[in-house]
Amino acid sequence: MLTQRSEEVIITFIAKKCLINLTSEQVREYKRSFHENHWPSFDTYVEMRMSMWAVSIPTENWKSGTCSCPPFLKKHKCKHLIAVAATFNLTSIPISAKAIVLGQKKKRGRPAKATKALVRD
Ligand SMILES: [Zn+2]
Repeated sequence: MLTQRSEEVIITFIAKKCLINLTSEQVREYKRSFHENHWPSFDTYVEMRMSMWAVSIPTENWKSGTCSCPPFLKKHKCKHLIAVAATFNLTSIPISAKAIVLGQKKKRGRPAKATKALVRD
């Protein structure tokens, strides 16, 4: 995650695979490629387009921010926008959302047999 902040807009670049830290050179290359808008092949364009997400958030109204990821282009909201807004204290994530358990693993072994409906133990 690499952030460029001005008075009105916060622009954050997030690597597609969040484990990789972005360098300022990678971001410069990304911006230069899209500024020049000259691509040797469509595959090169797709590779560059999908390498990182550019999240741009106006500080006055974070909901009117934009992101370059496919879910945002489809639904006009995405997890990146909310996460960056929460990082810069423009919004807060409700406690009810934090309480939901994520990624719980399935129990090992065979699933339990169904009990008979009309028999009491
Ligand atoms: Zn996004």
